[in-house]
Amino acid sequence: MVLADLGKRITSAVSNLTHSNVVDEKALDAMLKEICAALVEADVNIKLVANLRKSIRHTVNFKELGAGVNKKRLIQKAVFDELVKLVDPHNEPFKPKKGRSNVIMFVGLQGAGKTTSCTKLARYYQARGFKACLVCADTFRAGAFDQLKQNATKAKIPYYGTYTEVDPVKVARDGVEKFKKERFDIIIVDTSGRHQQERELFAEMVQIQAAVKPDQTIMVLDSSIGQAAEAQSKAFKESADFGAIIITKTDGHAAGGGAISAVAATRTPIVFIGTGEHLLDLERFQPQAFISKLLG
Ligand code: GDP
Repeated sequence: MVLADLGKRITSAVSNLTHSNVVDEKALDAMLKEICAALVEADVNIKLVANLRKSIRHTVNFKELGAGVNKKRLIQKAVFDELVKLVDPHNEPFKPKKGRSNVIMFVGLQGAGKTTSCTKLARYYQARGFKACLVCADTFRAGAFDQLKQNATKAKIPYYGTYTEVDPVKVARDGVEKFKKERFDIIIVDTSGRHQQERELFAEMVQIQAAVKPDQTIMVLDSSIGQAAEAQSKAFKESADFGAIIITKTDGHAAGGGAISAVAATRTPIVFIGTGEHLLDLERFQPQAFISKLLG
């Protein structure tokens, strides 16, 4: 199911209720059943879905509603607010400041969209007057540096990397030091991924983090990852303690409920979403605006 279909299903469940003549327990239950089924099908964690149902029922307590209350409006608002809660951990992400070097490190599994998102983010800040650059600390995957180089060149963003050094910690440290001396505002460090969560990967992340002391670590999650997102993000959180999430490929065929559940599992805000393969396909993530758009 794609994200837009999830939105349509929820909207139609709410609209069925608001167009019915009687708004009672039975109608509310039918609406909740449909919304919850849609969320579960979209891979949102089952416990989160159960909480959402409970909270809406708690807000819309027919026995205690006064006569003057507009039930339909109350229900619409409760659904909206609970969906926002699902994607909003109430944790403010780090905001880079101009005039100092802000180091941002990326982590995530191979193929999640790290390198692509690094370049998109560098361009995003560059367009907003920050002096931004990229460091390729992925010495694990052959071709990683070439890919970053290509992306960076296209976006006209200065980059650092090497074909000969095999120690990712050294590359990361050297790159960050060089760009700090050159007074870059935003230094983005791309790290290597693996096909799976592995001890070596986590050890490497911790070492790079210690070497470059990032102001922010961002985890990149593929929206098609499904239910595995929660366990994966928790495992990454334990080692890399990231402070923000970027969800990629939201233009694809997955509704992304798994990736959304990672927010709750790690209490970490989504900061951007990837909406395509191109450099400009990056959108700032704002919980309220996202849910408004989802529900059309
Ligand atoms: P990495 O291994 O984590 O660095 O992943 P890459 O940045 O190489 O991305 C893997 C693939 O996903 C590439 O083909 C990218 O073009 C693609 N990709 C990344 N982000 C998005 C996105 O938001 N939408 C789409 N459609 N493709 C994406």
